[in-house]
Amino acid sequence: MSSMLILFFAEILLCCAHSAGDSVPKLLLVSFDGFRADYLETYKLPHLQEFIENGVLVKEVRNTFITKTFPNHYTIVTGLYEESHGIVANDMYDADAKKNFSQFNDSDPFWWNDAVPIWVTNQQQGKGASAAAMWPGSDVKINNTTPHFFMKYNFSVKFEERVERIVEWLNSSDPVVNFAVLYWEEPDASGHKYGPRDTQNMQRVLEEVDKHVGFLMNKLKASGLWDTVNVIITSDHGMASCSAEKLIVLDECLGRNNYTLIDRTPVAAVLPRQNKEDVYNLLKNCNSHMKVYLKEEIPDRFHYRHHKRIQPIILVADEGWTIVQNESLSKLGDHGYDNALPSMHPFLAARGPAFRRGYSHGSLANVDIYPMMCHVLGLAPRPHNGTFANAKCLLADQWCISVPEAIGIVIGVFMVLSTFTCIIIISKNRVAPSRPFARLQLQSDDDDPLIG
Ligand SMILES: [Zn+2]
Repeated sequence: MSSMLILFFAEILLCCAHSAGDSVPKLLLVSFDGFRADYLETYKLPHLQEFIENGVLVKEVRNTFITKTFPNHYTIVTGLYEESHGIVANDMYDADAKKNFSQFNDSDPFWWNDAVPIWVTNQQQGKGASAAAMWPGSDVKINNTTPHFFMKYNFSVKFEERVERIVEWLNSSDPVVNFAVLYWEEPDASGHKYGPRDTQNMQRVLEEVDKHVGFLMNKLKASGLWDTVNVIITSDHGMASCSAEKLIVLDECLGRNNYTLIDRTPVAAVLPRQNKEDVYNLLKNCNSHMKVYLKEEIPDRFHYRHHKRIQPIILVADEGWTIVQNESLSKLGDHGYDNALPSMHPFLAARGPAFRRGYSHGSLANVDIYPMMCHVLGLAPRPHNGTFANAKCLLADQWCISVPEAIGIVIGVFMVLSTFTCIIIISKNRVAPSRPFARLQLQSDDDDPLIG
């Protein structure tokens, strides 16, 4: 009898635990590296279109400067500008620690610890466990924590394998995984190789990316997650065409012994070895297709000044131009340029119970993605540079009003008030005939002398 009772209560407990797990909102964040916003219009991508039709689309995401991979992926998961999260380039040098960072040497937590990514906050706030497949930084012990499940970065691991692991983790009941990130290297790698104008090759590459979206959707459907999981598909930056005719050759302007080149192109980070002003003046007169800034002169709009890893002189090439020392050019596409350029912008699409259906939005800053994800997961966001209100229109549980709608409502209210005012004035005029009657009577009295 007692064993039956124990079994009964154990079943109730299991059932409650299971339903609690089921009720936790789940979110999967996916990045296809270098997916330029207008690829969506240029190429036929049926799986992605199907995904978008049932959810929301942000046609253009304003990313952060510099428009490179590591900095923007960290911005998406922290909501911080690069000067605030500290991943200010794909190649960095820290003068205090005398350390170097590159995409092949990125696992020292030192570089990442200025910020706390959402997968750490999610676990710290006890909402559930996080899982990661190759998102930049997700295999690093940031704030002493990695996602509960993660894969060590290895570019040769196929997309299908990454998805299978992620889906398996999202189905885990012990612990319940409510947040996952997934990263894929295309269409960035081919965008560099062929350039975004090579529509024949890029069509093939994007069809492959679209098949990956289809594979992901089918896996989520087959595992029973499709109706409950929220999925965001986005990217870190776009891609611009570059060519061997548009080279800025630094060797023609100053000797290499004057400086160390920390980051290369199209935003070059220069650490002067000699007098900073001299190096600056030589660079300033070097090429009209490159802007040269002392660190303290970097425009405010870049939000790229207040970090010790931003070097004393920054060179920013015009769109399509490449900064070299004297090397030849081995690529036809690049990114990293001014983040105001539409060619640098990616897109964002999202679907699931947290998102509206069939809604299209003009643009959103990528710092706004973080507070939106925190809202979906029920997390208290850490300090960030985003604005939750900017993402409200994408969410099913938020009241959202666009500027034309607001103008329409103001005009409508004005018309209703005007109509009421007119009705009141007219009805008042109709009810006030007593005085004219009195005057008429007086007038008839006054008529007497005339009659007489
Ligand atoms: Zn990238």
